[in-house]
Amino acid sequence: MATPAASGAEAVLEVVASVLAELGEGGDVGAVGAGTPGGVDLEGRVVGEAANIAGWNGVDLRSAISRTIGRPAYVRNDGNLAAYAEWAVRGGGGEGSASRALLFVGLGTGIGGGYIEDGAILGGVDDKALEIGHVIVHPEGRACACGRSGCAEAYASGPSIGRIAVEMAAGFDTPLARAALSGSRINAREVYEALAEGDELASVVHAIAAEALSRVIGQALAFLAPDTVVLGGGVMTGARRLLADVAEAAPRYVYAAASAGVRFEDARLGREAGLLGAALYGASTLLDREELLGLAGRAAEGLRRRAGPAIPGTGPSAWADK
Ligand SMILES: [Zn+2]
Repeated sequence: MATPAASGAEAVLEVVASVLAELGEGGDVGAVGAGTPGGVDLEGRVVGEAANIAGWNGVDLRSAISRTIGRPAYVRNDGNLAAYAEWAVRGGGGEGSASRALLFVGLGTGIGGGYIEDGAILGGVDDKALEIGHVIVHPEGRACACGRSGCAEAYASGPSIGRIAVEMAAGFDTPLARAALSGSRINAREVYEALAEGDELASVVHAIAAEALSRVIGQALAFLAPDTVVLGGGVMTGARRLLADVAEAAPRYVYAAASAGVRFEDARLGREAGLLGAALYGASTLLDREELLGLAGRAAEGLRRRAGPAIPGTGPSAWADK
């Protein structure tokens, strides 16, 4: 179901309760996993403002879910859960594994991330680790929503890519520039559609976004030493070039051994990663590792078969939607 983020925390909790009631009718619920934007403390309470849901700060999400369904609930940051799902569908790092240490970067209205090593989420205090969009890549650069300047998010989120195109449009005479100057709504989707047509402005904007992402991911390689870097989120649906260009450029921003052998991959779960990650994380408290990975594989297969448009209501995550 769609998250009525604009209607505030109470409305969101009502939708959560109605989903839980429906699940309860379908069979026995063993445990519930839930993801939320922003921080989450050890008690499952939302910490810090989630910009897109009024009144969400301080909501005791874990208790609200447990009370409603009478089962344990597990709440984590949605970027961390998306990383968890992308790790699990790659075989979870078991035998014949695809990834033991996975860095996920989600590009949408913001930039989020997550890091999984051997099935454990690196959460830090209040699950705030991997807020990778707010790593500063250009000191004193573009203003970011967080109040600082030069964050990666100010260059490579969906809205930022669109804004940069609009700001630079006057210097170009291309279809994208003309659309921007005529006041058309420009987001990452329009930029990448134009790029596919060889638009020169789109090419410049893409290079700026790819450069910012490459810098932050290069630094992340030094900090985390992943074997796999996964790029996902709404922006990536149309931005195939980003993956290849970041894979090529990120190693320039870190010592050579840190990038040697690192695989750069598209997200396998698209915009569903956070949703599936929440479910798998809840299930991980009940299943052994093999059962969990089997479930992840079946869920991914189901998504592939459906292969239609993304289901609505995958959450108000800052990176899941463009
Ligand atoms: Zn920032």
